[in-house]
This record gives sequence, structure tokens and C-alpha cells, in this order.
Amino acid sequence: MSDLFHQQLQALRAQALHRKLREIGSAQGAEVDVVGQHLINFSSNDYLGLANDPLLREAATAAIAEFGVGAGASRLVSGTQSPHVRLETALAKWKGTPAALCFSSGYAAAVGTIPTLVGKHDVIVLDKLCHASLIDGAKLSGATLRVFPHNHLGKLESHLDWARRELPTDSRLLILTESVFSMDGDRAPLRELVGLKKRFGAMLFVDEAHAVGVICANGRGLVAEENLTREVDVQMGTLSKALGVSGGYICGSRSLVEWLVNRARSFIFSTAPPPALAAAATAAIEFLASDAGEQRRLTLWRRIESLRHRLTEQSVATPGATVNGSAIHPVIVGDEQAAIDLSRALQAAGFLVPAIRYPTVAKGAARLRITVTATHQEQQIRQFAEALARLRPELASAA
Ligand SMILES: *Cc1c(COP(=O)(O)O)cnc(C)c1O
Repeated sequence: MSDLFHQQLQALRAQALHRKLREIGSAQGAEVDVVGQHLINFSSNDYLGLANDPLLREAATAAIAEFGVGAGASRLVSGTQSPHVRLETALAKWKGTPAALCFSSGYAAAVGTIPTLVGKHDVIVLDKLCHASLIDGAKLSGATLRVFPHNHLGKLESHLDWARRELPTDSRLLILTESVFSMDGDRAPLRELVGLKKRFGAMLFVDEAHAVGVICANGRGLVAEENLTREVDVQMGTLSKALGVSGGYICGSRSLVEWLVNRARSFIFSTAPPPALAAAATAAIEFLASDAGEQRRLTLWRRIESLRHRLTEQSVATPGATVNGSAIHPVIVGDEQAAIDLSRALQAAGFLVPAIRYPTVAKGAARLRITVTATHQEQQIRQFAEALARLRPELASAA
């Protein structure tokens, strides 16, 4: 058995697809300690720097003092504590939906929810770049899957048209997309997706993992920014990125949430998230809804503009981010080994930006996924862009 894994691991190494964990010996932030090296971090999704913010630390500590550490049981048994209820009330209010439900992760929210929406007589149409959690949820549902090329409305329309012609009228259609795509940083055409969903009587599920905390006043996400809260059937998101904590959520109608409580397996058959995390996430939402939170979000946008400006100045192209706005700036390298080499060279120069490779992105589309946060300093952004421009041509000529 161990030989079998050894061979498989060797095969991964030969393709430059082998992955290793890297231990961080400090709190998250714009600067981190990676065994023996102090690095400036351009790889985290902690866009607002909340993961180690005193407000969240204090909320978590106070909740530990009152509620202890473990939740003791699943939500439906005896694991629903006051912090969980408060979090769901705060989430629904912030997102402007009738109801909300939290899960132990965004991944659990997706794989638990999608199979409650559709089943084997139904069809799911999803964007080619959807996150693994949406793909896994779609597979678990047993529905027929149809994939459309990234943001390609024409192909989506023809899939929906096919499904409506071929299937019984009572079968369900579900469209899955992200609002800000995690590895490319570009946005989905939500208005057009809503138009199509209405025309074909489909449901629309939008993963806002990289939009909440970043887009719209008070960080309510792209669905809110486009005024589509009432048109999107299911809004999914995570508490683990800009909100700085851990966990996932679904926002939508009261009956949707009641249905999930009764049917979502990752909700029912898993212990409730620790109450202190729910309390910290509530503090994050309250912060975002405050003036200070909005200021932090605006600072993030100044850093995003600054990174974009510096990269353009250095002639480093970042396709998704230049077209649309998000904190994610991909630099497509292509070859897997070349992406690793560039990441290593940057690490030697004091910057943490791991290479993103297959299966997170397509083979041959390896990249550096640069993320900027509100807590980066202007000077760090400038130094990083200069280092990237300096190190990149060398690698290009060596290839
Ligand atoms: C990170 C991520 C998730 C999963 O969220 P977790 O809370 O980390 O489990 C889901 N969808 C997208 C697009 C993500 O980037």
C-alpha cells in the first residue's frame, strides 16, 4: 500500500503538481512568520485584516468565558446556542434577506445545500470556474450536470433551453455561479444571469465567498451591489475570508432556511460550530456594518487600486482584475514548474505568494494569485510589484 502512494506521489512530483503544507508561526496578517523567515503576505483571503483584529479576539474570548469551547452536539440536538442565533439574525439583517443559516464551513454550506435544491430528475448548469465545493455539491445531488464556459451567457442559455425542451415541465433547473471568481478575480454578469433564470424558470445560487466584505456599501457583496437580493434564490458565503473567522452561511427565504434545517446533511449530521466562532463572526458583521468597518473597506479599495497601478507601471498583466474589481490579481504563468520557481524566487525576496496549480486551476494555467488587504502598507505594495517585475523576466528567459 505505502509503495502505491509512493509511486503516485512521485508522479505528482514529476508533473510539478506535488503540494506541501507550510507552517506559519504567527497570527495571520500582512506579515507572517514562515519557519525562520519573516514574509510579507500577498496570498491571504483575510482581505480586511480581521483574522487577528482585537474586536474579534475580544468577542471570541468573551464568548469562551461564557459558553466554553465546544458546542457539544449538532444544531438540531442541543448545539444551537445563543451566539449561533445572534449570528444568523445579524447575517440576515446585514444581507437584507428574510433568513440565514450558518454552517461549519463554506464548503459544508455548498455540499449540504445544493442536494436539497435539486435531485436526480433535475438539471444543474454551472460555470466552468465554479469552486470545488459547488462542483462536489452538484455531484452529490445526483442531478444531470451541464457546464458552460466561464461567464458564457450564450452557452448557458443553450443548456437551459435544452433542459426545458427535453425534461418534464416539473423538473427543476439550478444555475450555479460565484459572484467574484476565486482564482481569476473577475465578476459574474449577475443581471444577465437573473434574466435567464427568470426566462427559463430556473433557480439561481450565487457563491459570494470573495465578494462579501469587499464589494458594496458595508461589504454586503455583489448581489446587494447590483440590487438583486430579491432575485437570487440562494446566496452562499463564507465567514472564513474577509470576515476573518471560520464557517459558512446560506441567506435566502424563511422556507429555504427551514428546508435546510430539515434536509441539509452537512448541517444535520455535524456538530455545531464553536459558539466563540459564531460570536467572533457576529462581531465581524457588526464591524462591517459600522462606519469604522466601511472605512476599512475603503482602505482595502485604495490598496487594490494601488496594487493595480503598481503592476501596470511594471507591465505585469493581471487579466481578471483589470477588467473588473476585486482584491484578487492573478498573474498567469502557465507552466507549473515555472509558477513554483517564481513563487520561490519571491519568497527568497521576502514575499509569500504560493503558486496555484491544477486541480485548483486548469493544467497549464498555473499562476500566482496575488491578494491585497487593507492592512498592507503602500510601501509593501510598491516593493512587491518591483520584485515581481524584476524576477519575472529572468524566469521567462530561462524557460
Ligand atoms: C473558500 C471558498 C469556499 C469554501 O469556504 P470555506 O469557508 O473556506 O470552507 C467556497 N467557495 C469559494 C468560491 C471559496 O473561495
